[in-house]
Amino acid sequence: TSMHQVYVESGKGAILKDVTGREYIDFSGGIGVMNIGHSHPKVIAAIKNQAEKLIHTCFMVLPYEPLVRLAERLCKVVQVPKPQKAFFVNSGAEAVENAVKISRYYTKKPGIIAFDNAYHGRTLLTMSMTSKVKPYKLGFGPFAPEVYHIPYAYCYRCPFRLKYPTCDTCCADHLKEFFINQSAAENIAAVIAEPIQGEGGFITPPAEYFPKLLKICKNNGILFIADEIQTGMGRTGRMFAMEHWNVQADIVTVAKSLAAGMPLSAVVGKSEIMDAAHASGLGGTYSGNPVACSAALAVMDVFEQEDIVSKASVLGTKLRSHFDILQKEFEIIGDVRGKGPMLALELVNDRETKEPAAERAKALVKYCVDHGLILLSCGTYGNVIRTLMPLVITDEQLNRGISIIRDGLQSITR
Ligand code: PMP
Repeated sequence: TSMHQVYVESGKGAILKDVTGREYIDFSGGIGVMNIGHSHPKVIAAIKNQAEKLIHTCFMVLPYEPLVRLAERLCKVVQVPKPQKAFFVNSGAEAVENAVKISRYYTKKPGIIAFDNAYHGRTLLTMSMTSKVKPYKLGFGPFAPEVYHIPYAYCYRCPFRLKYPTCDTCCADHLKEFFINQSAAENIAAVIAEPIQGEGGFITPPAEYFPKLLKICKNNGILFIADEIQTGMGRTGRMFAMEHWNVQADIVTVAKSLAAGMPLSAVVGKSEIMDAAHASGLGGTYSGNPVACSAALAVMDVFEQEDIVSKASVLGTKLRSHFDILQKEFEIIGDVRGKGPMLALELVNDRETKEPAAERAKALVKYCVDHGLILLSCGTYGNVIRTLMPLVITDEQLNRGISIIRDGLQSITR
């Protein structure tokens, strides 16, 4: 089933057109996939050109240049300790699965720690790592073993009922308690976290959180995997979100905007870790398809030539000031959070009790789509409005989108 009954025919930049010719401003980007905009001419040209030359050999059988060149380019922009290696698969979930396999092989340990509110995919292993039970898990068990969950730094709804900064980010220290009460560090291969939790509600940890968490991992021989599938490729105003915290993960997963809509994902990590598994231990028929790799190379060119990361940062500042104004106007906006243009509004029925306003969030999304703006909600409680618009959106399109949200907020709070 689709969320909206809008049959889309074409897209350009941040605008989608349906089969009746009606235009929509796109604040969703197909869930964060279209960071450089719909139908970028460079991506179209790269796809056409590669399709005419070679569509498939299976890299495990016969190698080809676009994959090698993409691996080199990606290793230059993903921040993991040098020297690095990249490995390509087809979807976000598949990248996460492989990051786990690689971590287990390298550390010779089975345990994986993920977080409450996490989203890592819908395959058996990644579903087991995903935290929200309805709709992702209910009825789809039994789940993969050796997957654990611990609380995340959700400051607006602190799992420890404390306040930042007097809490001293004890949520990060909680990992040490976990080793005592749940599973020993000697059993854990990796901790995996989204630098900003995406589906969970754009939950954005404070400055000390990741440096503290990574230090605990390091001291205990545990790898840290950053799932940058939603936060990466310029989404937060940096190429990758971990840059905001000045720390480097051992392994990073990349997907979504990597190939502007072609199915492609990557695992990037320290060579020593990436090379641990035996030959042919990792792979897949379509993994790193030449057409998808060529599209991703064009995406890399566009990032450089159009300075997409700086554009994202400027867009983030504008969006934040719009949202701060909206929060002053509307009681229902309990929290504004995120980084760069990866921003969210958490809607509550009461700012004191913070009762989640899920029904009204749904009504707001519907109002916006009915009035020409494609908008997405998210959140463990279904009450968060998030922005994943193409980073190349024009000011005029942005302002029009915001004014539809404002009218929508008026309509749902009347
Ligand atoms: N990890 C994160 C952080 C995601 O946001 C998503 C997709 N929303 C995934 C993994 C799974 O990606 P895919 O849907 O391509 O399998």
